[in-house]
Amino acid sequence: MECQICNRTMQPLFLKHRHWIYGCSECGHQSADVGNPAGHVEQIYSDEYFHGGGAGYSDYLAEKDLLRNHGQRYGRLLQKYMHPGTVFDVGAAAGFVLQGLIDTGWSGRGIEPNLRISEHARSHLNLRVDTGVLESFHTEERFDVVTMIQVVAHFPDLRKALQVASEITCRDGFWLIETWNRNSWVARIFGRHWHEYSPPSVVHWFTPTTLRHLVEPFGFREIGSGRPSKWLNGAHAISLLQYKLGGSIPGRLLAGAGKLIPQNIPLPYLAGDLFWMLFQKQR
Ligand SMILES: [Zn+2]
Repeated sequence: MECQICNRTMQPLFLKHRHWIYGCSECGHQSADVGNPAGHVEQIYSDEYFHGGGAGYSDYLAEKDLLRNHGQRYGRLLQKYMHPGTVFDVGAAAGFVLQGLIDTGWSGRGIEPNLRISEHARSHLNLRVDTGVLESFHTEERFDVVTMIQVVAHFPDLRKALQVASEITCRDGFWLIETWNRNSWVARIFGRHWHEYSPPSVVHWFTPTTLRHLVEPFGFREIGSGRPSKWLNGAHAISLLQYKLGGSIPGRLLAGAGKLIPQNIPLPYLAGDLFWMLFQKQR
């Protein structure tokens, strides 16, 4: 496998969920071999991803308020760097994060591969969310900000996706990227058991450095970074943990405890393995 950041040959590291995880000894990037990318996105982001638990969501629509708050926090964060303008939200799902951005003064649209969940954004929230993938998206519109919240780790072909993102970003425009940090303490403690090693839905594992190396050849420069605060609802947190811990003793204990925890209360996402970076187009 070739590294999608520096083009060197990657070495197989370990097998996870029947997929090999590869590491680049030159730049440190890690990717999974998920086979033929054609049809990959449609297969992964089936309705099951949003409602079936496992690596995805136990009930995506139940996360509505938390995701909207997440969008509002980013809407306010972006205002430290620029006046509110237009956004394009990649992987918009049911439109909740986009709605949060709109709540804080932004306007815009998004794209989402899953038909049913994008239909929710259109019919329930009256948002402009196209059904499709960024890699084959085309518009004459240009946006002040392209937001990719927990999205870049899922692109089978990183450069193709970012090429389109670059084309639709206006002069001096921005990219806001949030993804998982494989250099975080939680990733290092858990090693290959880190819960974000969940191919085939997650294909890439970044650090702030490898993300910067990916983005810079597109003419974007980092102007800010940090760690997001994030909340999950109780049902999602427990479903995710059960999936990660599987049939282990903590997993079985949790399955029992899970029945006692109210499903709709927000729980803080404590893992601390997410980071965000803001980049600005230089040319
Ligand atoms: Zn590399």
